[in-house]
Amino acid sequence: MTAEPIMTDLTVDYYESLGRGQLVVQECGDCGALIMYPRYRCTECFSSNLGWRQVEGGGILHSFTIMRLGAPSGYEADLPYAVGIVKLDEGPQLLGRLWPGEDGTWDDYVCDARVTFKSAPAADVASRPAPWFERAKS
Ligand SMILES: [Zn+2]
Repeated sequence: MTAEPIMTDLTVDYYESLGRGQLVVQECGDCGALIMYPRYRCTECFSSNLGWRQVEGGGILHSFTIMRLGAPSGYEADLPYAVGIVKLDEGPQLLGRLWPGEDGTWDDYVCDARVTFKSAPAADVASRPAPWFERAKS
């Protein structure tokens, strides 16, 4: 099994933005709703008039886990790693990877902490696209 991302017409713009170091969410051209994850129809007004909007990348860490064993197939070499649900300041929430702190751990992370988007290097994003977040400096 491969860890290659599944590109569809729905996700290609999102993944390409991550490759440029930008975090985007869908925006409804009719009602202005911001949507994540990508969909074919607006979750508020059912319009198909959807585009993309770059977000600042700041948000609140809703929940997270540190994977130390039992990684999904293709992710074994990444262990340990952390993933979390981030509620962006703009509203949508999404799953992302968490950068370890300077000490190589995730000890500084707590639920409801501020986090900010910090892209992985383009080569890493190309092979394994994901939004990466770090603990916001206080
Ligand atoms: Zn809408």
